Amino acid sequence: MSEQIGVTGLATMGASLARNFARHGHQVVAHNRTTARTDALLAAHGGEGDFVRAETMEEFVAALQRPRRVMIMVQAGPATDAVIDELVPLLDEGDVVIDGGNARYDDTIRRAAALSTTGLHFVGCGVSGGEEGALLGPSIMPGCSAEAYALVGPMLESIAAVVDGTPCCTHVGSDGAGHFVKMVHNGIEYADMQLIAEAYDLLRLRLGMTPAEIGEVFAGWNAGDLESYLVEITAEVLGHVDAGTGRPFVDVVMDAAEQKGTGRWTVQSALDLGVPVSGIAEAVFARALSGHAEQRAAAQKVLAAPAGGGADIEDRDGFVEAVRQALYASKVVAYAQGFDQIAAGAVAHGWSIDLGALATIWRGGCIIRARFLDRIRQAFADEPDLTTLLTHSYFRDAVADGQEGWRRVVVEAARSGIPAPGFASALAYYDGLRAERSSAALIQGLRDFFGSHTYHRVDRAGSFHTLWSEEGRREITAR
Ligand code: NDP
Repeated sequence: MSEQIGVTGLATMGASLARNFARHGHQVVAHNRTTARTDALLAAHGGEGDFVRAETMEEFVAALQRPRRVMIMVQAGPATDAVIDELVPLLDEGDVVIDGGNARYDDTIRRAAALSTTGLHFVGCGVSGGEEGALLGPSIMPGCSAEAYALVGPMLESIAAVVDGTPCCTHVGSDGAGHFVKMVHNGIEYADMQLIAEAYDLLRLRLGMTPAEIGEVFAGWNAGDLESYLVEITAEVLGHVDAGTGRPFVDVVMDAAEQKGTGRWTVQSALDLGVPVSGIAEAVFARALSGHAEQRAAAQKVLAAPAGGGADIEDRDGFVEAVRQALYASKVVAYAQGFDQIAAGAVAHGWSIDLGALATIWRGGCIIRARFLDRIRQAFADEPDLTTLLTHSYFRDAVADGQEGWRRVVVEAARSGIPAPGFASALAYYDGLRAERSSAALIQGLRDFFGSHTYHRVDRAGSFHTLWSEEGRREITAR
């Protein structure tokens, strides 16, 4: 299949995607606001396929056959709106505009609605995999109408990563669905990296292992259930030595994690949806804490460490294995929470999202690609109505098998004063989920006491209120 596509925005991602399309035999009409970027791409890689150079937006549109397919790869936010505003008057009914940037899903819903009044199709397309993925095969999450997917889906599938013969691209749902799942994908990525960082910190601080030694441990873990891109590159980063100083690379990097916003958006959305994505939230907050340099500097001088913490750990291998178990179990929780958020988002926005298909397209190309995602795909295939991944037999047993190690690690972290918010909150979520009675009954009582908010009883239907200030505290039926 050889088709034609226009790509506007030829920075890191746009240039790589354009090359990927060209390498797959598609004709690529290439455009960038600053023409020098277009020329640089064509000079360096023009020989890789059939490129057409467009200097102006008018030239760009004129070079495309109808129905035109235009992929926008510019900065998310106002820049994307500016490009859409410039493009729309030049396009014709039936043409397709694909936004492959990291747009907020609510912006995508707004843009799709606006474009539908002009007869144009709009595809909000999540793309994951960074520069390398974009070039060699990303995971692609398009949100659009079925009609639009018929026009662009095959092309997108042709450049996506492939796992077990299946392309890592699927029609996720309508309008903002693709960018919504890309957002949650990034949120899960935050949680995954936080858990990896906690595992590293514990091995380093509790066992005194060097970064290179810990890198070896991660390389070993990558041969088992934890096999994933992030664990693989953790081994690489930990093994890297700074050429200038000869010190481990991680020791010369400032310990303040930055963020571009998708983790924060995920948590904001989860708060609105009422879905407890504690793993992602802890990861976003941990990054924020790492950046509070002044508070950290002040606190380091005066806040007490635990007395008597940090005695030598005798069974070092046992502790390493416990950390592996904590990492795996916490990861299961983080993914379960992320999939819960997608399910809730789908209900709230009327999207029909196939969670198993999503796990399938995240097996390759994207940053969270992992062996683990095949297990998730299988879990949804086994039980399409699964209420939480944690109750599927595979994950239930995997977490049960590792829970002693997980608990040991959380206790050890608390006792020795090493922050492990990801491990600890994942465990609290797990215990909260399986508790027969939650402490929320007391919260309902307190709410009724101070705010007459009413409560339900375990033994009778209806809403009730206790007249707390009355003698005898009579209970009445509330409306
Ligand atoms: P950047 O986000 O750095 O954006 C630079 C591009 O945007 C340039 O082509 C620039 O044109 C163009 N641009 C900026 N403002 C305007 C404007 N007002 N009008 C026209 N063009 C404009 O590029 P990336 O390649 O890193 O990312 C592209 C998109 O892909 C972004 O939305 C990003 O969030 C998303 N993304 C990025 C990933 C990554 O790993 N980097 C991964 C997945 C998605 P000019 O050259 O003229 O300045």
